[in-house]
Amino acid sequence: MPASKTKPATDASLEKIFGPHGWLARNHPNYEFRASQLEMADAVESALADRRHLIAEAGTGTGKTLAYLAPIIRSGRRVVISTGTKNLQEQIFFKDIPFLKKLFPNLRATLMKGRQNYLCRQKLYDLEKQPALSGLAEVELYSEIRGWEKHTETGDRAELENLPDSSDLWRQIDARRETCTGQKCAQFERCFITWMHQRAAESDLIIVNHHLFFADLALKQMDYASLLPEYAALVLDEAHEMEDVATRYFGLQVSNYRVEELARDTEAALRQKNIASPEVAPAVREMRRRAEHFFELFPQREGRSSFSNREEFLEANRTAYSALLNSFERLKTELRRRDGDSDFGYAGGRRNV
Ligand code: SF4
Repeated sequence: MPASKTKPATDASLEKIFGPHGWLARNHPNYEFRASQLEMADAVESALADRRHLIAEAGTGTGKTLAYLAPIIRSGRRVVISTGTKNLQEQIFFKDIPFLKKLFPNLRATLMKGRQNYLCRQKLYDLEKQPALSGLAEVELYSEIRGWEKHTETGDRAELENLPDSSDLWRQIDARRETCTGQKCAQFERCFITWMHQRAAESDLIIVNHHLFFADLALKQMDYASLLPEYAALVLDEAHEMEDVATRYFGLQVSNYRVEELARDTEAALRQKNIASPEVAPAVREMRRRAEHFFELFPQREGRSSFSNREEFLEANRTAYSALLNSFERLKTELRRRDGDSDFGYAGGRRNV
């Protein structure tokens, strides 16, 4: 494993970085000596050296991010940093790392987000041939994205200031896994996802969020290709957010929304590839109908609540449940058949990461 990518550009001890007259004191505009920050940095350095786990809890304003980043960079190993929120992920990548580059000029870091944050060039080009845009605002946005695609190095939607959070247009052109044809795609070599993986493989620090980190673990568990390159250590920042995300990737979840999403993705793919399928469309309709019926059988409750009598529920509603499962099978069979005789892009039901 390429555990050591960057030699520390400084021999400065942690005391000389964090101490009252150290590097931070001279360079950080809001520096204040905090003994707990230096203590945490020492603890991280020892844990890395001894290859042990460390749990550190630090109050707001302790400067915990710098307290773990500096010893990690000094270790010269490739480390993944996973955060609970996009805000912290971006703060580390756009603020803390550029600041620390003054001390460690050779440091290489990559920001990795979920695939839905990146543009799929192929879908953008397909849309040009088969425009399915609604309204002037979407036409203008499309033309902005078309111009941006020519010069962006990351394809990250965060660079698009005018893109609404829930944009229908973006949903049609993002790089989600289910509709990606991978190495079969003509754009594979210049795909933003390919580039992101290449950058990560050459980096010392990889900044992800918990969703991407656990998606990677889940893929590894299923023996699919991983998202992250090999790394020597992991930092889970905002670890209180971790439990929910881990449950999402290692638990099983099904809902009427997810069935609807599958139906819409399939219809969009048929439209984009201009396929008038006499088999797939009715299979989608049937799945929708049966899902609607099945999910209506659940007790109507406000918000989240536990569902402990699963066995009884299944026993009482086995016919509707089997009918729904059969409709999934029917759709899968039709899509596989399509995939055999066209470039439909069926991704075999992999998780969306
Ligand atoms: S490789 Fe996948 S995500 Fe990348 S451009 Fe092609 S279809 Fe889109």
